[in-house]
Amino acid sequence: MQQNLSRHADTALSSDCLRTRTHLHAFVDGELTDHDDAGRALADLVAAHLGTCERCARLERQLHAMRAALRATGRRERGVVRATPSLRARAAAILSSH
Ligand SMILES: [Zn+2]
Repeated sequence: MQQNLSRHADTALSSDCLRTRTHLHAFVDGELTDHDDAGRALADLVAAHLGTCERCARLERQLHAMRAALRATGRRERGVVRATPSLRARAAAILSSH
C-alpha cells in the first residue's frame, strides 16, 4: 500500500479516499469489522490508507476530536442524552422484528 500517493494531494479524491471516508466513522468507533470482496479486512485497508493520505488522516483526527467532545458532553448531561427504558425496549422490538 505504499504507492506514490503524495502526488494526489491536490487532485480529486481517489477510490481509496472514497472508501476510507465511507468507513471512517465505523473505523473510529472500532466497529469496522467487514471485509471487501477480496476478503481483506476493511479496517486494515483504512488504516493503511490513513498512513499514506494526509487529507484522510486529517479527517480521522477531526472525527476523533468530535467524538471526544461528544463523550465529554454525554458525561455532563447523562440524564438528558440517555434513552429511556421504554424507548430502548421499542427500539429492540423494532430491530428484532426484521
Ligand atoms: Zn485519502
